[in-house]
Formats: sequence, structure tokens, C-alpha cells
Amino acid sequence: MTNRFLDLAAPGLHGLRPYQPGKPVAELEREYGVIDIVKLASNENPLGPSSRVLTAISEAAADLPRYPDANGFELKQALAARHGLPAACITLGNGSNDVLALLAEAFLQPGREAVYSRHAFAVYSLVVQATGATHRVAAAHPAGHAQPYGHDLDAMAAFVGPATRLVFIANPNNPTGTWLDAERLEAFIQALPEHVIVVVDEAYFEYVDAPAYPDTSQWVARFPNLVVTRTFSKAYGLAGLRIGYALSGSDIADLLNRIRQPFNTSSIAQAAALAALEDVDHLARSVALNAVEMARVAEACERLGLGVVPSAGNFLLVDMHRPAQPLFEALLHEGVIVRPVANYELPDHLRISIGTEQENDRLVTALARVIGA
Ligand SMILES: *Cc1c(COP(=O)(O)O)cnc(C)c1O
Repeated sequence: MTNRFLDLAAPGLHGLRPYQPGKPVAELEREYGVIDIVKLASNENPLGPSSRVLTAISEAAADLPRYPDANGFELKQALAARHGLPAACITLGNGSNDVLALLAEAFLQPGREAVYSRHAFAVYSLVVQATGATHRVAAAHPAGHAQPYGHDLDAMAAFVGPATRLVFIANPNNPTGTWLDAERLEAFIQALPEHVIVVVDEAYFEYVDAPAYPDTSQWVARFPNLVVTRTFSKAYGLAGLRIGYALSGSDIADLLNRIRQPFNTSSIAQAAALAALEDVDHLARSVALNAVEMARVAEACERLGLGVVPSAGNFLLVDMHRPAQPLFEALLHEGVIVRPVANYELPDHLRISIGTEQENDRLVTALARVIGA
């Protein structure tokens, strides 16, 4: 009788392991009895959302008995204006992860292939696996490269073949923080055959200040096989609400809109996202805080003798120069939650999200203690 239902499941599910999220604060309180916890484990905005968002949410509460606008008309209008694209090019998702899953569902099946990089965001592997398609995982740049552990586009291009349907690129990538410049990324997309859809995941777009970093939303009109994903979970501080979107040609958007759940984004999330877009000052404050604090945390880690991968996001990949799991656990006892990344084949690293000044001070003190510095 064992595993009967496992045998009955769709082929990809056998090898599927659930996504490992950052440890929730309440769980650490329950398990360890620690209080006053600092969570720097899920790349959230430590300032939270704009106060305008909170107002919009309480106003939208009046709509709770009604189903949401299934087409997200107002939010799509605002996004269309922002990106200079028709609303028909937008697919809203329950977080951008939802859109990544829709892409896999729409274009993959057993016998088809998806290409992504080693150390790339874990959700690519999960959504590919669920479809039973074949993973082609390209080698990443080595540790000594200017973008350590980052995507190697040449290695990825070498894995594109007749069965390839999707290529996933995180720019910047999580957990490495590495990024790709406009010239190289554009040449890569240009060289792809037409039967291959390239997904550029820009979850941390708002944080990047490198001048050569591209806004690929501006390439969507030129490349019919390009899909760009964005989210309100990171710089906009709305991770708990679950809202993100894809920009693509209207053909691809039409396909995604056929398979998505009709009400995959809630009325509250739509209203909140709309208000978040309007508060450019809050976004600028959030990005500025991150820039100052990320530099400070990086410097502190280096002073402790740790290795810091340069990051374009709101987190740092830190080389602890020893197995990181025991340090992760020791940090939990200090009331600080970070992210072990052994599941990304980086067993000696921790991924540390950038918090407020006070949170980062707590982190640095705790780090010094657990490494015995
Ligand atoms: C956090 C993250 C996302 C966003 O996920 P949501 O579902 O929008 O919360 C997408 N891609 C990467 C690389 C991320 O790190």
C-alpha cells in the first residue's frame, strides 16, 4: 500500500520538494522561547508599506463581500502607463511566483526543457519540476568572478536546444545578489531562437542603481518572446498581500490569462498595489535606506573576516568560511533569523536581508558572537 498515491500523481510530483521559506518570527518564538526577534530572512522591506497603502486597504475593506475585479482594470491601467505598454500585455499574479508557475504550466510538459542557472532562485526549479519537463541547469560563474556565483549567459545559451521552451533569468538573482548588464542580456535575448521564451525576473528592480542595469520592461515591445516579472513583495513592502505581475507581448499574456485562476489577486491586494505605485517618496526612502545600510552591513561583515558577495538587491550573500547551518542555528538563539542557503548549493554561506539600522546592529553583534570574534 505504501506510496500508492505517489504512483498515481503527475510525473513531476515525485521529485518535488516544497519551497523552504524563511523561518517565521512566531515559529521561532514558539520553538526557542526567544522574544524581540529580528527577521532578516526573506528580503522584505523593513519599513513596511507606504501609509497610503494602509489607507487604501482600509477603504477597500468596504468591497470585501464582492469578488475582486477579475481583470484588475485600475491596477493594469496604472502599470500600463508606468511601463508604456498596453494593458493587454499585463498578467497579474498572486505574487510574481504565481506568474512563474503559470508560465511553466503554459509552456512546459514532459519532453520539453527549461534552462536556468545553478544558484538561481529556487522557484524556477520547483515550477519546472511540477510540469515533468526536463531541467537544464547551467554552470554559474566561479567564486572568483566579478559576479561570483552569478548567471553565466554563455553557459546558459549552450543549453538551449530544440526542446527548450523557457529560460529563467533572475536579474538581480536571489540568493547571490548578482546582476547582468544591458548589453550582455540584450545580446543573449537577441540570439535566442523564436521557440524559446525568456523570463527575466526583476523582483529587486527598484533597488538596483548600477548604470548598466537594464529596464527590460522597455524591451517587451521589441522581443515577442520576452516576459518580464515584477513584484510588490520587496521594495514596495507588500510581501504578505501576494501581488506581482508579468509584462509580455499580448499573445503570451492572453495564454497566461486563460490558465490563471479568475480571482488570483484579491481586491485588497489590487487596491494596495495601486496606492503603493503612487507613493514614490516612500519607495525612494526604502531604496535609500537599503543603500546606506547594505554598505554598512557589508563593511561590518568584512571587518569580521567574512566574505561578502557584492549585491544589487536588498540582501547580502555572506561567505562564513565554514559550514553555515550551525551558525544559522546559533543566530536563532540570539533571536536573529537569517537564511541558510545549502539548498542553493552554498553550504558555507548565509543570505542576510538588510533591515533597519537597529536590526542590522543586532545582526552584527549576534554575528560577532556566534563566530567567536
Ligand atoms: C522574492 C522573489 C520573487 C518574488 O516573489 P513574490 O511571489 O512576488 O513574493 C521573485 N523572484 C525572486 C528572484 C525573488 O527573490
